[in-house]
This record gives sequence, structure tokens and C-alpha cells, in this order.
Amino acid sequence: MPSPVVVRAPSKVNLHLGVADLRPDGYHDLTTVFQALSLADDLRLAPAASLSVRVSGEGAAEVPTDRTNLVWKAAVRLAHLAGRAPLVEIAITKGVPVAGGMAGGSADAAATLVGLNELWDLGLTREELSTIAAELGSDVPFSLHGGTALGTGRGERLLPVLSRNTFHWVLALAKDGLSTPSVFRELDRLRAEGEPPRLGDPQKLMQALAAGDPHTLAPLLGNDLQAAALSLKPELRRTLRAGVGAGALAGLVSGSGPTCAFLCESEEAAIGVAAELAGAGVCRSVRTASGPVPGARVLDTEA
Ligand code: ATP
Repeated sequence: MPSPVVVRAPSKVNLHLGVADLRPDGYHDLTTVFQALSLADDLRLAPAASLSVRVSGEGAAEVPTDRTNLVWKAAVRLAHLAGRAPLVEIAITKGVPVAGGMAGGSADAAATLVGLNELWDLGLTREELSTIAAELGSDVPFSLHGGTALGTGRGERLLPVLSRNTFHWVLALAKDGLSTPSVFRELDRLRAEGEPPRLGDPQKLMQALAAGDPHTLAPLLGNDLQAAALSLKPELRRTLRAGVGAGALAGLVSGSGPTCAFLCESEEAAIGVAAELAGAGVCRSVRTASGPVPGARVLDTEA
């Protein structure tokens, strides 16, 4: 019987999230620069008599444990391709906020692919896993890839981006989540009514990443979904103001929100901003994180 495998699944923040107009097929083309962050879920995958999912930690009560969980879908898909039964118990310890715009579910799916590749000794390459990842969801390939990357299409077509230095972040977790489709619908509604701000291309932002200077990067951060997330949750304006007031270089809504991400000058500055935000009563809880970190990876194989 193979030993259980533990895999770390990193969250992400979109440093740049440009959203094109709604396509006739109901999707939007994206131009995004992702960064993988140290705030992560851990998954333990162990051989078992049947497939099961257990969830504990941050927001666990809101996460399904049945076939609708993305890790269940990932396990069934990989087992099918490998011609075997998905006999595995998957225990998820959530650190990433659920429905928080940080791709927690996608990260768990990527971690399941990496973990089962190891547990079942399948020998699949990163490229092969990436193809399966793209079938599971548009953020799953990046969760596998990690680091900093430019995503196009629906975010699943990736190119690595040179990023010097480690950047330090404070994350303000909101009381309730936001559903990603509802935020895209709200953006379409706002665009039908008027002209919410639109980002240009991310060239300058990528230059700032290559230079590794948080002061240059800060004013270039941007998210086309932010206006829609703020329209659905106006209280996030206070959160964003409070973070910048506490000394962050910049703040933005992460992905479809409602988590707000604040870029800070240093690790020490991030700890100070986090402490002040936690006392300001503008969010449910506060975390510090750094990035870029690697994509989903095996931490340890238990003896
Ligand atoms: P994204 O930014 O990728 O659109 P998100 O980070 O806002 O997503 P997730 O935490 O990934 O949101 O989850 C969105 C919904 O997916 C949850 O409300 C939950 O019902 C469902 N879900 C399925 N599998 C998982 C999982 N493993 N972890 C968290 N949520 C999951």
C-alpha cells in the first residue's frame, strides 16, 4: 500500500485582470497576470476503499464534500485516464478563503492532480497534468504552474513572467463570499449602462515585476472586475481605503473578490498594515502572505 501524500496548494492574486466584452458564447476573454501566494490549502491523499473528501479549516462549512467538489472531479478524471478506480481519501485543510477570488478550489484541484500522480506513480509530466487541469477549470493550470504568469484566453493559456524579488501582501478576508459568475454579470450590466474604467495592456506592470520594485509595481496593479465587486459589496471601499490608510502601497480586489489584497513595501510593513487593518473592523480577518511561490507541490510522503 503506498504511503499518503501531502500537497500544498497555493492561492493566487491577479496583479492585472483585464476583461474583454462578453462573447456570444457567454464567456469573456481575459488578459491577466497571476502571482501565486504563500496563503495555501494543504491536501492529504491516502489510499482508501472508496473515494471520499473531508474538509477542515477556513470556511470548511461552505465547501461541498461530494462530487461537486473540484478535487472529486480531478480524482475521477485522472483515474479514468489512468484506467483505474479513484480509491482515495482526500483531506483538505483550507487556508484560502472560500469564494474569495483567490482560486482556492482550483488550487485544490491542481494539488489533487499532482498528489495522485505521485500516489499512483503515474509518471505524467507537468505538461500532461496541465492539459487535464485546463479541462477542470480556467484557473487550474495556473495553480499547477505557480510563480508569476501571464494568462490569456480564459486565463488557462500561460506564459511565465520574470519576477525579481519577493513581494509582501496583506489580505483582508470578507464576511461572505462572492460568486464569480455574478461578478462577471454585474460587470456586463455596468458596461451596458456606462463606461466603468478599463485597464490597458500589462506591459509596464511586467517591466515593474522584472525590476522587482514594489513602489513601481503598486500604481500599475489593476482589476476590471473591481468596479463590479464594489457595486455588489460597497463596504469593500472602506476596506480598500483602510488598507492604504494603514500604510499599504496599493490595494485592490483580488480576482472576483471579495478578498482585498494590499501590496506592502516589506514583510515588516505588511505585519504593521495587517495589525492596523485587523483593529479597524473593516473585514472578517486578516492574513499576511508573500509571492511568488511555486505551484501545487508534494510536501512530504509520510513514512
Ligand atoms: P475563482 O477565483 O477561481 O473563481 P474563488 O476563489 O472565488 O474562485 P473558490 O473558493 O475556488 O472561489 O470556490 C468557489 C465555489 O466552489 C465555492 O463556493 C464552493 O461551493 C465550490 N467548491 C468546489 N470545490 C471547492 C474546493 N475544493 N474548495 C473551495 N470551494 C470549492
